[in-house]
Amino acid sequence: MTELIVRNEPAIRMGFFVGIFLAVALVELVAPRRGLTVSKKTRWFGNIGIVAINTFLLRILFPAGAVGISIWVGRQGWGIFNLAEWPFWLEIVLTVIILDFVIYMQHVMFHAVPALWRLHMMHHADLDIDLTTGTRFHPIEIIISIGIKAGAIIILGAPPVGVIIFEIILNGTAMFNHGNFFIPLGVDRVLRLLVDFQMGHEPDKLLQRIMARIVPGPEVNRGSDTCLVSLISWRAEGMSDARWKRLCVSHETQMFIIKHMIESGA
Ligand SMILES: [Zn+2]
Repeated sequence: MTELIVRNEPAIRMGFFVGIFLAVALVELVAPRRGLTVSKKTRWFGNIGIVAINTFLLRILFPAGAVGISIWVGRQGWGIFNLAEWPFWLEIVLTVIILDFVIYMQHVMFHAVPALWRLHMMHHADLDIDLTTGTRFHPIEIIISIGIKAGAIIILGAPPVGVIIFEIILNGTAMFNHGNFFIPLGVDRVLRLLVDFQMGHEPDKLLQRIMARIVPGPEVNRGSDTCLVSLISWRAEGMSDARWKRLCVSHETQMFIIKHMIESGA
């Protein structure tokens, strides 16, 4: 079974990628949540072009990929899972959970370290959001990421099947999470049980960070076809000047996007 899955890894992963891509893309086309500022064609040409460059780079630099590393580690008998006899299913479940946590920590790090943020900004600077945003990453971030993943796989002695399942889930959820479509509230409530996250440690300790206000034009002596939009951010105690400046610039950009959307009737 394992051998069958490993041997057909490229086809299995490609199948899931294309399947999830088509499903999310179709829902986005039929029921988009938000209008785009540039056409899908322009967006996809850019974002999928980046995927092509990243895939090409990975194939050249790491032809074996994460799965190849895990096969190699298994042969060497390295890693925590190879120290003792673990049930196979447990190794797979732990591989998926731990690799997910490692990639989560990597994401936090890419936000926290200024030099890394400059690379990761490329993902967050996408003017619109659709499923291709989930694959829009700087080539250097992709290379650093495979290095971190390889380290985790070696330390764990992660089995190839676990790594394949993890890669499929990571790739699929990245496309789904960035999908530009409306999820009915009832469905969202069920999904949240699985994927919800919370800002702050307890619900009553949530901090006010940002407030948006929309006032109809006539209330501020403007025409009835206008409105006043304001965005207020709280500067957290201890936030550095550089970080605060970045926050202001990104909120200013958001205001321009909102203005554009209102004016273009999106
Ligand atoms: Zn991020």
